[in-house]
Amino acid sequence: MLRGGIPIGRLFGISLRLNYSWFIVFALVTWSLADNYFPAQFPSWSGGTSLIAGIVTSLLFFGSVLAHELMHSLVAKAQGIPVHSITLFIFGGVSQMSEEPKRPKDELRMALAGPLTSLALGVVFWAIFYSVGTGSQFLRAIAYWLGLINIFLAVFNMIPGFPLDGGRVLRSIIWWRTGNLRRATRTASNIGRGVGFLFIFGGVFFIFQGLWLNGLWIILIGWFLENAAVGSYRQVALQDTLQGHTVGEVMTRDCPETPPDLTIERLVNEYILASGRRCFPVTTNGRILGLVTLHNVRAVPRLDWPRKTVEEVMTPLNALKSVSPGDDLSAVLGILTDEDINQVIVVENGAIVGDIGRDNLLSFIKLRGELGV
Ligand SMILES: [Zn+2]
Repeated sequence: MLRGGIPIGRLFGISLRLNYSWFIVFALVTWSLADNYFPAQFPSWSGGTSLIAGIVTSLLFFGSVLAHELMHSLVAKAQGIPVHSITLFIFGGVSQMSEEPKRPKDELRMALAGPLTSLALGVVFWAIFYSVGTGSQFLRAIAYWLGLINIFLAVFNMIPGFPLDGGRVLRSIIWWRTGNLRRATRTASNIGRGVGFLFIFGGVFFIFQGLWLNGLWIILIGWFLENAAVGSYRQVALQDTLQGHTVGEVMTRDCPETPPDLTIERLVNEYILASGRRCFPVTTNGRILGLVTLHNVRAVPRLDWPRKTVEEVMTPLNALKSVSPGDDLSAVLGILTDEDINQVIVVENGAIVGDIGRDNLLSFIKLRGELGV
């Protein structure tokens, strides 16, 4: 749910994405402002004025959420944590960072940056509301609502359930007291789940009171929080298992080279089945063109095997990400997740020495789980 999104641009080297839920939120916010809030507050406004006010307010609301999220990311970057992308969803965003903060202090600063931005924006919008004269009713109306929503965002995000900002603040404090990131994450995400369930019960209560729409919204928020809390803990636990182990321990070695004009049929019969290997650099005159793997082969219908060549189905060199045998496994997981790819090549002294994919990581985790180590 958190990963899907449409790219909308880049800011400060961070790619920005919109989760599909945003279009629903945008439509709902615009509609409820234009059809409900503004007409009730300002009966003299025409339908067109209310609609324009609704759209302008929604866009500025979107800008406010973006500013909140961007501040998290900028503080993270200032602390040396690379941020690849920000995905904006219903009432906030998720910054995709391939690393967790290294010190509790860094996490605390990062977590507080967002709510403080929202609070500051809330104060600015309310200052506009109070300072412009009663003559510009349009501006006042927009500024008032935006002030309110930004302060709501600051307060909502400070709920102490991980992965909300308040949960991150809590985690950083427990982490600082215990020195144990995993335990701190578990505690903070359990509280996050608790908060999620409270929202769900609250929503059910509202529904029994006859407040259907409010109830459903609150249930949706609760369900989302509960899910996010579980997911975030899993992510940290996984990182923890992988950390301290290197690519060299689990990578697939000895990738035989193949010529670019080889058909898939021959690749399967003469290379894959004969050698039992899973990755094949495609080379011509000692130059690497790309990599063909079982994953690429599976994507080609059986009937096309005699016609298609490895060059047509390989992942070209410029689309390949590489790591080195000494890299940490948790960094590999970060790359696979961020780039949404299945494998990366392992390069040492400029030569491909193997590859490592999701399946390597999975069997590593599974084996350790079975042995209990
Ligand atoms: Zn935030």
